[in-house]
Amino acid sequence: MPAHPARRKYSAPTCLLLSLLAVGAKARAAEPTAALAAPPVESRTGRTTRPLLTLQPGSARPGDPVLVEVRGVGELPQGTLAGKPLRFFPWGEGFVALTGLPVEMQAGQAAVTVAAPKVAGELPVVLTGTLDVVEPGYPSRELKVSGKYVEPPASVKARMAADRKAFAVAFAQPFAAPMFSRNFAWPRQDRITAPFGDKRTFNGKLSSQHFGVDIDGDPGTPVAAANEGTVVMARDNYSAGRTVIVHHGGGLYTSYFHLSRILVKQGMKVKQGERLGLVGSTGRVTGPHLHWGVKVDGMWVDGESLLKLDFFPSSAPPAMASGDSAGLAAP
Ligand SMILES: [Zn+2]
Repeated sequence: MPAHPARRKYSAPTCLLLSLLAVGAKARAAEPTAALAAPPVESRTGRTTRPLLTLQPGSARPGDPVLVEVRGVGELPQGTLAGKPLRFFPWGEGFVALTGLPVEMQAGQAAVTVAAPKVAGELPVVLTGTLDVVEPGYPSRELKVSGKYVEPPASVKARMAADRKAFAVAFAQPFAAPMFSRNFAWPRQDRITAPFGDKRTFNGKLSSQHFGVDIDGDPGTPVAAANEGTVVMARDNYSAGRTVIVHHGGGLYTSYFHLSRILVKQGMKVKQGERLGLVGSTGRVTGPHLHWGVKVDGMWVDGESLLKLDFFPSSAPPAMASGDSAGLAAP
């Protein structure tokens, strides 16, 4: 049975005390915070439908994906995380929104506010919570590039512009509910040669940041879909090389760069574990590897953190009818 990641729950109405409690310790964050005082409406309708807000993970780094779940409400909720609107979709017994923390966000706290009527047509109940934003500690590497930046020739510039357009089109799929029925899995299991968030500096200045996870691999070894979805790009790009992008719904995409061969076509539906291509070194790379990127709600986020999200908490032991702790040990 998989270890369940940290999650934290709030019931309506919540109070400001909560933010005082939220001081980032990972061990504590692994246990859901106790539900707070129940709203008057609860006594009329019983515990099992109590509006409940759950955040995964309980504390996150800038660059991590965040799953916001709302149960016990009668209509699609509206809400924000750190001021950014959330897009909810029906999910299991409630509603879920998938987003992330921008990589440039400062450590501290991010407020979550969600409103939805308990019963359709009634006044909305407001649920609030706080997400601890912890220092990511992304390592910094000095780029070993000699010489000056060289302006690419016009033909390369045109190609890169076409690539950017193709990526924009691929990432502009209509918002739809997720089409997967399992949690995410590694596209291949091997040594991570560069994690998400690695900062590359040049002459002491931040020149770029790594918005994917580099996974080692011999050329020709298979690359699998991290989850079910639809192929929205199967294309040879100048920098990313042969690239596959899979749209999973819910505003979530996974991308696979530098493939030696692409084994799928645009528009194809793929299942988790299905071969998308083979490891290669196409594009601007120094050696064969898979660059695995995850984009959610318009932001690149850490794929390793996506793997820790539990999209199916109701698969937890059946005893938890009252929205109790999902029970679970820290990973
Ligand atoms: Zn990479």
